[in-house]
Amino acid sequence: MEGCIFCKIVNGEIPSKQLYEDDFIIAIMDINPRCDGHTLIIPKEHFEDYTKLDETTFEHIMLKAELLAKSICEKLDCEGYSLVINYGSLQDVKHFHLHILPDSGKKLHEVDAVYDKLTK
Ligand code: AMP
Ligand code: ZN
Repeated sequence: MEGCIFCKIVNGEIPSKQLYEDDFIIAIMDINPRCDGHTLIIPKEHFEDYTKLDETTFEHIMLKAELLAKSICEKLDCEGYSLVINYGSLQDVKHFHLHILPDSGKKLHEVDAVYDKLTK
């Protein structure tokens, strides 16, 4: 969708720190992380919010969230995580995305350093 920042990331018009890609989704590091390893799963197709998602895409996202979160937590040495979906006034980017928020402690490292750790 024109003017959508996540569509631009999906299309490669805006750079991102990508952790995963398949035919339906990408997973990228959040640019303004709330914790180390803060990751966004973004469907390649533009859905405005979670109410517009089709069941197949939602199921795919949740299955990949489990795998990605497991891998991120192993690499960051944490044991739990939150999966967050914002909606309405709490959703800034109107292209559906699922937040993975690892329980990585309060300390915040530079995104570059965490990205290195997650991709090596
Ligand atoms: P939400 O409030 O759920 O819409 O959250 C949007 C999230 O997208 C925020 O955590 C932002 O930090 C993140 N974000 C915005 N622009 C970018 C970008 N260019 N690359 C990565 N994450 C982004
Ligand atoms: Zn979009």
